[in-house]
Amino acid sequence: THPHAPGLDIVGQDALVPLVGGGEIAYANLDHAASAPALRVVHEAVERSIAGYASVHRGAGWHSKLSTALYEGAREPVRAFVGGRADDTVIFTRNTTDSLNLLAHSIPRRTTVVVFESEHHAALLPWERQDGIDGRTVVRLPVPALPELAVGAVDDALRRRAPGPALVVITGASNVTGELWPVAELARVAKARGARIALDAAQLAPHRRFSIAELGVDYVAVSGHKLYAPYGAGVLVGRSDWLDAAPPYLIGGGATATVSETGTVYKTGPERHEAGSPNVAGAVALATACHALATSDATAREQAEAALTDTIRAGLAAIDGVSVHTLFSGAADSIGVVTFTVAGVPASIVAAALSAEHGIGVRDGAFCAHPLVRRLLGAAGCSDGTGPGQAVRVSVGLGSTTEHAERLIAAVAEIAAHGPRVE
Ligand code: PMP
Repeated sequence: THPHAPGLDIVGQDALVPLVGGGEIAYANLDHAASAPALRVVHEAVERSIAGYASVHRGAGWHSKLSTALYEGAREPVRAFVGGRADDTVIFTRNTTDSLNLLAHSIPRRTTVVVFESEHHAALLPWERQDGIDGRTVVRLPVPALPELAVGAVDDALRRRAPGPALVVITGASNVTGELWPVAELARVAKARGARIALDAAQLAPHRRFSIAELGVDYVAVSGHKLYAPYGAGVLVGRSDWLDAAPPYLIGGGATATVSETGTVYKTGPERHEAGSPNVAGAVALATACHALATSDATAREQAEAALTDTIRAGLAAIDGVSVHTLFSGAADSIGVVTFTVAGVPASIVAAALSAEHGIGVRDGAFCAHPLVRRLLGAAGCSDGTGPGQAVRVSVGLGSTTEHAERLIAAVAEIAAHGPRVE
């Protein structure tokens, strides 16, 4: 059992990995923000869900009824986990990217979308496809100097918009710096200006308890694979009216009420956008993870992660030649994501050395957030003068231990002082 989170033990984290000089070491996974390992309860629930299955919504047989019940029963734990309202719709998707594309597809004509350029590409870009079509407009805001300045910037953009609906899109926690955005305050100004707000909670949800009803958020998107459930299942939860009025996201069986020579009538509700045979195992995995996290001691987990993150942040910042990058220089609370660079050593080499020489898994690159990374690293981070630059990201979660943090700091200190042993 996980020391800080009874019931939240994870599977597959005891692997020994080869070291470049010979020998093996216990794998230190410091890449939870990319994809988190599965909870044991998720692993077991998925096994049960595929032990005897049949078609969903389409069969009269016993297994078909079981699969349909499993799939439909997965919506409520997810809604409860994000603190959705009783009448919010819960639409299963593939991931956060898919959820936000579905929402972009569903915004009414003449909608103004307001988004900060610091978003992950999944939250920054889907609206662009609609820009200029039927009066829809995208307003991209520069990153403010402080998180609280975001509120005024959004208020201003909403006040100046053309008449019509508006949608503010905000990430709960940055996938690059871990910093939190003032979601409740942004929701308040959105509401005061007659706008809606969508929350990209891909990074927030695995680390912080929240309720979209309490925050005043209209839509939320999450990914199962970052939430201790495997790939292939995500969700969009939120107000049903725009979604019920939009054309179906996918066209096909399951989304239709009637089809005749004279026309097609589509269903409303989640099925409108979920055409085709659904991902039952994925929905079960996501719902099981949501239930396990919702019923665990979130405060203890947050404290344990915060302690580890503080150790990593302070340990890395104290190393000569290492820069830890943040948007708001300590003015914002953050989850366990820390991004850094080592002077004179490319990020890809740092990451490769951490893996090959120390058995530590991290991510390097620009993290699908090029405008944000360009802003963090400036021209200095960019080797060819055009790209966004590259950095190294470490991220903690249920699989992280103090030993992992200490091993990381010692390893980065060695790389910063002597360079990598392998190229
Ligand atoms: N938003 C944020 C903040 C993310 O970190 C990610 C994943 N890196 C996404 C959206 C996209 O998630 P997915 O790849 O699961 O669609």
